[in-house]
Amino acid sequence: MNKVNLLEFDLKGLTEYFQSIGEKPFRAKQVLRWLHHFGAEDFEQMTDLAKDLRAKLEEAAEIRPPRLVAEQASADGTRKFLLEVGPGNRVETVFIPEESRGTLCVSTQVGCALECRFCSTGRQGFNRNLTVAEIIGQLWWANKALGRDPKGERIISNVVLMGMGEPLLNFDHTVTAISLMLDDHAYGLSRRRVTVSTSGIVPAMDRLGEQMPVALAVSLHASNDALRDEIMPINRKYPLAELMAACRRYLEVAPRDFITFEYVMLDGVNDQPRHARELIELTRDVPCKFNLIPFNPFPDSGYRRSSPEAVRRFARLLMDAGIITTTRKTRGDDIDAACGQLAGKVEDRTRRTLRRMEHTA
Ligand code: SAH
Ligand code: SF4
Repeated sequence: MNKVNLLEFDLKGLTEYFQSIGEKPFRAKQVLRWLHHFGAEDFEQMTDLAKDLRAKLEEAAEIRPPRLVAEQASADGTRKFLLEVGPGNRVETVFIPEESRGTLCVSTQVGCALECRFCSTGRQGFNRNLTVAEIIGQLWWANKALGRDPKGERIISNVVLMGMGEPLLNFDHTVTAISLMLDDHAYGLSRRRVTVSTSGIVPAMDRLGEQMPVALAVSLHASNDALRDEIMPINRKYPLAELMAACRRYLEVAPRDFITFEYVMLDGVNDQPRHARELIELTRDVPCKFNLIPFNPFPDSGYRRSSPEAVRRFARLLMDAGIITTTRKTRGDDIDAACGQLAGKVEDRTRRTLRRMEHTA
């Protein structure tokens, strides 16, 4: 018999599970705390459960996180965890320490079905969605590895769903994993400290707002439809006017009063003053901040990083128009853990890698 993996459930799911095996619903809170607060790896540890309940769980259920296969530390304190998610497939999660917070960057898919030209994950093709246990398993492992600070606070204070994959194309699993991140019986993070990053899947942005409003980052990367069509093919389905309207609707329910626009700076492609002027016009009605990201190269990407001078000039134009603009510091690039460099290992099922090989042969 296949055992039920308890890491697949949020509080609601676990409560239903306990009811289905004839147990009291309040057991769900107790077990959730064991699983996620304390990182319990077996039922033996759950000492406040009756012995016969532990035996029953032993029989029917299991605690099965993805297998941790490697861990790397960067000179700047960034740490990368490599997790095996079935034969031939590996995903990465990255911890980025900063002065006042510690952020875990979590993956939601094995590879990505979208083909943004500047992204190494997109280059690799797509295998499948991660399960809830595989998404929350990244936080589960990283918490174990990093623990708490001397004041007893968790080292991981923020989560960004900005690793491999498009979170809104794995909607249900992502939402259940976020529900665990927010639950006081699990990780207890505030909605403002969990950020979903999306390439702009418009209908799913609306659903996220209805079901699980958290902070939202939108990968913009271009200031007009022609350019965005070219570097982010998803734009042909959800063009900029629709995307901006979705951002405005999201802000009506969001826990923060701005959208973060991510903008990867590609030399000579999207980093000119006219692009900044177009962005100012485009986002006129959308309260937002910009986060400029220096492009992180990978083999054969065909793009170059914009010069620091071009980035400064671009930031100044946005700031002069009253838009708060930050430039992301590149972290962890010595261990290939920087934005857009997460590769893991993907058994591509889309034939994208094959097509590319034929194309370049
Ligand atoms: N699929 C989601 C989340 C994962 S990508 C999304 O696209 O938003 C996380 C961020 O890294 C996105 O803003 C993405 O555009 C950016 N990124 C991708 N490739 C990059 C690269 N080579 N250098 C810098 N940032 C990159
Ligand atoms: Fe997928 Fe995001 Fe990379 Fe685009 S940038 S290919 S949506 S992971």
